[in-house]
Amino acid sequence: MAVKIFLNEDELPRQWYNIAADMPNPMQPPLHPGTGQPLGPDDLAPVFPMNLIEQEVSQERWIDIPEPVLDKLLIWRPSPLYRAVKLEQHLKCPVKIYYKNEGVSPAGSHKPNTAIPQVYYNKVFGIKRIATETGAGQWGSALSFACSQFGLEAKVYMVRISYEQKPYRRLMMNTWGATCVPSPSTETEAGRKMLAIDPNSPGSLGIAISEAVEDAVTSEAHGRPLTRYSLGSVLNHVLLHQTIIGLEAEKQLAKTGDYPDIVIGCAGGGSNFAGCAFPFVRDKIAGKQVQIIAVEPTSCPTMTRGPFTYDFGDTVQMTPLLPMHTLGHGFVPAPIHAGGLRYHGMAPLVSQLVMDGLIEPRAVAQLETFAAGVTWARTEGFISAPETNHALAAVIQEAKKAKEEGKEKVILVNWSGHGLVDLAAYDAYFQGKLADHELPQEDIDQALKALEGFPKPKM
Ligand SMILES: *Cc1c(COP(=O)(O)O)cnc(C)c1O
Repeated sequence: MAVKIFLNEDELPRQWYNIAADMPNPMQPPLHPGTGQPLGPDDLAPVFPMNLIEQEVSQERWIDIPEPVLDKLLIWRPSPLYRAVKLEQHLKCPVKIYYKNEGVSPAGSHKPNTAIPQVYYNKVFGIKRIATETGAGQWGSALSFACSQFGLEAKVYMVRISYEQKPYRRLMMNTWGATCVPSPSTETEAGRKMLAIDPNSPGSLGIAISEAVEDAVTSEAHGRPLTRYSLGSVLNHVLLHQTIIGLEAEKQLAKTGDYPDIVIGCAGGGSNFAGCAFPFVRDKIAGKQVQIIAVEPTSCPTMTRGPFTYDFGDTVQMTPLLPMHTLGHGFVPAPIHAGGLRYHGMAPLVSQLVMDGLIEPRAVAQLETFAAGVTWARTEGFISAPETNHALAAVIQEAKKAKEEGKEKVILVNWSGHGLVDLAAYDAYFQGKLADHELPQEDIDQALKALEGFPKPKM
């Protein structure tokens, strides 16, 4: 029995899969925040290059991956598919568990799968510099790596509290040649405003997004090289780029003769989950029996407790209104260690498919996720990112369920990244300092009040 299923380099998928072509109900359009009218491509042009905007709205089922992108992806792709035999033996449940190892990329997560094409499309559009934000640093480091590959400048606004408490990903960014500043910074109007209110502001993802977008749209006026903004999750083109995960997994599973009964991924903005799952959602739309589970934290239960409605993508209300599951743009989740899952919204494509009953959302509590991560490390060996541990907790739940039901099942899970830069979180867990965060309904209701009077998606 093979424990690792590899693809040769010439088996790397050469097209991305665009689920927009197959959805039973199309995604509702993003709306202009001022006019409430559907957004046109030109509205986004100051922020993103037009070639990525075209992908954002494309209805083509298959989109060719450009040769220079394939060339860079080959640094770590195709990624191995593993059979989690040691975990299976430990669990003693009637399941085969396969996992796609996205921790093998240079930045240690799935995020370079979209950072590489995004930087490439910016480069061919004549952009010289990219501005972005990062929380714990996963996206900032992936983008810095990609910019170094294509010779673009990278400017990363990193939430100040993480900048100070988590130096390692900042140092990865510096090693790849990027400039990383703590946000709020003195370099933008938005940052200076925040610092005037609170010189010791710990920062937030919302503020950092404002700074990065402002940096991009004002770069020419300030005499900086031509700059655009880049986002690491949520948007359609990001999910599109990530489908290389599921397309590879399909080919690898075909070599084993197995087809998954259950596909599982953790979901913050939805990109790694969608990347692994969408090719299987396609099969499900075509009539195949497959259960598809997106796992989120109970402390930030966007899909399981948030309504499907129009909301801003960011805290400071600069982005278009997106049709999605949301807890409200002002929702501040508890400071759990899975920083990548602390987002108030969910990708519109994933949200629509949840509404259509094709994706099943599930929330798991923090302590259960770390217990699953430790079990994983002591069986499979790899130490997972705290985000990834959410998916692993659901794998263990499903394995136990299969045993109760007396059914044999094949499970595919996306192992979104390693946790070697997140060991302080494991330390806190071992010392008993972590807690599960109950989220009272009043808190959700309160945050959702901000959406009163917002347009509603058509059903
Ligand atoms: C960023 C991140 C996530 C969450 O982002 P998605 O867009 O939902 O995939 C999950 N796992 C890891 C390892 C991450 O770095």
